[in-house]
Amino acid sequence: MIEHTLTVAGVTVDARHWIGGERVASAETFTDVSPIDGRAIGEIARGTPAQAAAAVAAAKAAFPAWAATPRAERARILHAVADGVEKRLEELAVVETTDNGALLRSHRRGVMPRVAHNFRFFADWLLKLDHEDFETRGHTNHVSWDPAGPSVLITPWNAPLMLATWKVAPALAAGNTVVLKPAEWSPLTASLLADIAAEAGLPAGVLNVVQGYGSEIGDALTSHPDVRRISFTGSVPTARRIAASAAAHLTPLSLELGGKSPLLVFADADLDLAVDLAVEQYDNAGQVCLAATRILVEDSVAEEFTRRFVEKAGQLTQGDPREEAADIGPTIHPRQLEKIDGFVRRALDAGARAVIGGHRKDGRYYAPTLLTGVTQDSEIVQEEVFGPVLTLQTFTTEDEAVRLANDTRFGLAATLATGDRARAERVTARLVAGTVWVNCFFVRDLRAPFGGSRQSGVGREGGSWSFDFYCDLKNTVTAPNGWSQDHG
Ligand code: NAD
Repeated sequence: MIEHTLTVAGVTVDARHWIGGERVASAETFTDVSPIDGRAIGEIARGTPAQAAAAVAAAKAAFPAWAATPRAERARILHAVADGVEKRLEELAVVETTDNGALLRSHRRGVMPRVAHNFRFFADWLLKLDHEDFETRGHTNHVSWDPAGPSVLITPWNAPLMLATWKVAPALAAGNTVVLKPAEWSPLTASLLADIAAEAGLPAGVLNVVQGYGSEIGDALTSHPDVRRISFTGSVPTARRIAASAAAHLTPLSLELGGKSPLLVFADADLDLAVDLAVEQYDNAGQVCLAATRILVEDSVAEEFTRRFVEKAGQLTQGDPREEAADIGPTIHPRQLEKIDGFVRRALDAGARAVIGGHRKDGRYYAPTLLTGVTQDSEIVQEEVFGPVLTLQTFTTEDEAVRLANDTRFGLAATLATGDRARAERVTARLVAGTVWVNCFFVRDLRAPFGGSRQSGVGREGGSWSFDFYCDLKNTVTAPNGWSQDHG
C-alpha cells in the first residue's frame, strides 16, 4: 500500500499528481530525501508517459474556458493564489528547506514573498497589457495577445517554487493552461501550489502537476502535439534533449540554462564591496545559475583582494539550513556532491591550488572553495560546477578582462566591481550576458527581461517578454471601408 500523504515538518503534502482537479496516484513511487540529513522524507508518485499525456489532455480540455475568462477575473484569481502563498508562507518555507536544503531564512524573507509577488506582478501586468493599434494608408492594424494553449513548464531543484512560479504566473495570466513538472529532487512545493491554486478558485485542469523523472515522462510532455509552449529551466544537456523532442511539432521553447559567469574586479573598485560580492557567490551552496563563479581581478589588487576574501569567507557558517546562523547549507544530492568533488579533484591534479576549501565535509556539505592557478581553457574555468567552488584569475588590462570574461560558451550574467562609471559603461557594452550587474548582485526588477545569451538560454522572460512568449501575437488589418452593416 503506497502512502500518499507526507508530513514534512508538521505540514501535510499530498505526493500524488494533480490532474484535471483531482489527485492521481501512480503504481510506482520514488523516495524523496532531505539533503539536510540524508533522511527519507517519503514516497512521491512516479509519473508515467500515460499520466503525462492525461495531464496535457486535462490542460487542453480546460483551455477554451480559461482563455475566454475575462482578464480581470484571471487577475483576481492570481491575486487569490498570491494571498494563499502569503497565508502559507511559513509552511512553504519550511517544506522547501527540508526538500532542497537552501537556507530557511532566505525562503522566509526573500524567496516565498517573491513567489507571491510573481503572481501579483503578472496579474497586474495583464491588466496593463494594451492592445496596440497602428494605421497605414487608412487601414487599422490591431495587435492582440491571444493565449497560445497548453504550456509545459519544467523546472530544476535549486529554487523550486520561485522558478516554477516565474513561469506558472505569466502562463496563467496570459490565459494558457499549464502542466508543471517539478524536479524529482525537490517535488514538494509544487504539490502545495496545486492545493493553494485550487483553494484560490483556479478551475480544474488549468494548473496540473505531474511528478516523476524527466527521463521517463519528459518526452511525453515535450513531444506532445497539443502542447503549444514549453518553458524549461535547467541544464544544457537536458535542454538539447527537450529541443530535439519539441522539434517534432515545432513547439516554441523558452530555455533558461546554466552559466559560468564572471565577476570582474578592477583596481579602482571599492575592494570591500568587491569581496562582499565575491563571497555572496557561495549563496545556496553555489547552486545558483547566475553565480559569478569566475573571479577576475586586476593584478595590482589581487593579493589584497585575496587576503580580504579569505578573511571574509572564513566568517561564513556552514551547517543546518534551518538554523538562523547558517550561511551555507548542504549540496542537494550525493550525485551532485560527487560531481563537485570530481571537478575540484581534476582541477587540483591539473595544477590548481585551493586557497580555501577543496574538500568535502560531513554529510552532503562541501567546503566553500577558492581555486587559483587555473588556466582559461581548463575544465574548471569552462564548465558549470553548480557548487560552492570559485576560481580566481588575474588580468592586467581592460581588454584582457573582457576577453577572459567572454571566453566561455555561456552568457547568463556578469558582475562588475569598479569605481569608474565610464569604465563600467565601456566594459558592459562589450560583455556577452543576459544580465550585467555593476557594483551589485542579484537585484532585478521583474519588468526587465531575464535570460541568457549563447548556450545559457533561448529567449527572455519578464514583463511583456513573458506575455510575448506565452501568447500568439496577432495583427488584424482592417480596411477603412467595405462595411455593409456597422453596429459599432
Ligand atoms: P536538469 O536539466 O537535470 O533538470 C531540470 C528539469 O528537467 C528536471 O525537472 C528534470 O526532471 C527535467 N528533465 C530531465 N530530463 C528531461 C527530459 N529528457 N525531458 C524533459 N525534462 C527533463 O537540471 P537540474 O540539475 O535540475 O538544475 C540545475 C541546472 O539548472 C544548472 O545547469 C543551472 O544553471 C540551471 N538553472 C538555470 C537557471 C536560469 O534561470 N538560467 C535557473 C536555475 C537553474
